[in-house]
Amino acid sequence: MLGGAPALVLAALGVTGAHARAPDWAALARGTDGRVVLPGDPEYPEARQLFQPRYDTVAPGAVAYPAHAADVAVCLDFARRSAVPVVPRAGGHSYAGWSTRAGGLVVDVGAMAAVTVEGPGVRVGAGARLGDVNRTLAARRLTLPTGLCPTVGIAGLTLGGGLGLASRAHGTTSDALTGATVVTPDGVVREVDATRDPDLFWALRGGGGGNFGVVTELRFRTHPATDCAYAELHWPEADSAALLRGWQRWLAALPDPFWSQVEFLIESGPATAPAVRVLCLDGRAELERQLTRLSGLVGRPLRDSWTVVRTYEDTLRAMSGCAEQSAAQCHLPGTLPGRTPEGRIGRDSYAGRSDFWGAAGLPDAGVAAVLAAVRRYGQAVPAGGLGVVQFTGETGGAVNRTAAAGTAFVHRDSAFLTQYLAYWPASATPSQVSAHQGWLDGLWQDLRPWASGRAYQNYIDPKLPAWREAYYGPNLARLEEVRRTYDPDTLFRFPQAI
Ligand SMILES: Cc1cc2nc3c(=O)[nH]c(=O)nc-3n(C[C@H](O)[C@H](O)[C@H](O)COP(=O)(O)OP(=O)(O)OC[C@H]3O[C@@H](n4cnc5c(N)ncnc54)[C@H](O)[C@@H]3O)c2cc1C
Repeated sequence: MLGGAPALVLAALGVTGAHARAPDWAALARGTDGRVVLPGDPEYPEARQLFQPRYDTVAPGAVAYPAHAADVAVCLDFARRSAVPVVPRAGGHSYAGWSTRAGGLVVDVGAMAAVTVEGPGVRVGAGARLGDVNRTLAARRLTLPTGLCPTVGIAGLTLGGGLGLASRAHGTTSDALTGATVVTPDGVVREVDATRDPDLFWALRGGGGGNFGVVTELRFRTHPATDCAYAELHWPEADSAALLRGWQRWLAALPDPFWSQVEFLIESGPATAPAVRVLCLDGRAELERQLTRLSGLVGRPLRDSWTVVRTYEDTLRAMSGCAEQSAAQCHLPGTLPGRTPEGRIGRDSYAGRSDFWGAAGLPDAGVAAVLAAVRRYGQAVPAGGLGVVQFTGETGGAVNRTAAAGTAFVHRDSAFLTQYLAYWPASATPSQVSAHQGWLDGLWQDLRPWASGRAYQNYIDPKLPAWREAYYGPNLARLEEVRRTYDPDTLFRFPQAI
C-alpha cells in the first residue's frame, strides 16, 4: 500500500474543509502533474467524447488525464471533498456511456499507457488500448487472451472479464491478471494481488469497471503465440437453421485451442448468409479435421470457404481491421492521450444486448426466432443501419476450468455467447433510432423462453431487468461486501454499480 493524496496538495486545491463548495477545477489542474481539460479549452470537444457519438452531448465538468497514480488520488480526494460525481475512463467504449458524467469529473487513465514486457509477464498502463497491447505482445510472439477491437481499453475489458480469440485456450483476460495498482476511494494507492488486498483482487477479475477504484496498472502473465490457421465458410442463407444447429453440436466437442463465430451482418434488403469463422491455434491439419466435422454436422453443401495460415501478429492485424494501417493509424484520431493525429478508426452509435448459453444451447424454436428477426430487419428499420447477430464460441475450454467463485467472473458453464447489435447512421432521427432499438429489443425478447438469464457485464445493457443476477450470479454477495469495504460512501456511482 502506498500513500494517498498529500494534505498539502489538498490544501492547495482549496478543499480543506468538510463542507462541499463549487468545484474549483482550476485548482485541481494546478494540483496534478497531468492535464485537466475544462469546458472552453480547445481540446474539450475531443476530451468529452466516448466511442459512441450518441454520448457527445454529455458535458462533464472536467476531464483529468492523471500522469501517475498519485494524481488519481488527488482527483478522487477532490471529487469526494467537492461532492463532484467522479467516473473512471479508459477506452471509453462503455455501451451505456457510463464512463462520462454530466457536470462530473472524468478520470481518464489514457496518459498511463506503457506496455512493458518483463520475461513471461507484461506490465500494462491502464490507459493502453487493445491494439497497443496486442501489437507489442504479438511482435514478441506472446499472447494475452483478450479482444480484438484496437481502440477498446485494456482496463475496462479486463475488469469485466475479457473474452477473445485465445480465451478457450488460456482463459479470460482477467484470469491472466497477476496483480494491479488501484487507487481506492479513500485516496490510497494499493498494489493488489493474490496476497495483498486479495478480496479486492478477486473482485477486479470480472466484477466490472467503475465499481471499486481507479486501476492505473495491470500486470498479466502471457502465453507463447503460435501461428494461426483461419477459415471462413458460407452456407446458403436458406441453410442457416441447419448451420446453427450443426455449429452448436460441433462446438460442444471442439478442442480448446479454437475460437469460432457465426455472424449475421444484416443491411436492408433480403437476408444474407451468415459468415462462419474458425480460428485454430493448433495448426492447419487440426483445423481441417474440425472443418470436416463441422460440415458433417451441418449436413448441407458449402457455398464457399477459404483457409489461410498466418503468424499470430498478422492474424490479429487482419481480424482487427488494421491490416492496411500502421500502428499510429490504428487509433481514434486526435491529440489527447489514447488518440493519434494519424488515427483512422471511426466511431459508431449502436445499442447491444447479450446472452450466455449453457450446454442445452438454443433449440430449434429459438433458432427459428433468430432467423425470423434477421429476416424482418429490412422491414423493421430505415435504410442505412446495420443489424448484427453473433454466436461466438469463446467460452468453454480454459474459461470453464476455473471455478465460478474462483474470480468475480461467474460465467464458467457457458457453451457460447450471443451478442445482438443495432447500428444507426449519424443522420438518424430520434424516431429512426428508436426503430433500430425496437428491432434489437424485439429479437432479445423473442429469445427469453430459452435464455439462461446470464449476460456479459462487458456488454453492459441499461435495459437488462435482473442485471445483478445476470452479470454476477452467486458472486454478487461477495462483490457487494468488497464494495462496502473499499467504497463505503459509494463515491463511484452509475445505474448498474454494485
Ligand atoms: C467495438 C467493441 C469491441 C469489443 N470487443 C470485445 C471483445 O472482443 N471482448 C470483450 O470481452 N469485450 C469486448 N468489448 C466490450 C468491452 O470489453 C467493454 O465495452 C469494456 O467495458 C470497454 O472498456 P473501455 O476501457 O474501452 O471502456 P470505458 O467506457 O472507458 O470503461 C468501461 C467501464 O469501466 C470503467 N473503467 C474504465 N477504466 C477504468 C479504470 N482504470 N479503473 C476502474 N474502472 C474503469 C468505466 O468507468 C466504465 O464503467 C467490445 C466493445 C466494443 C465497443
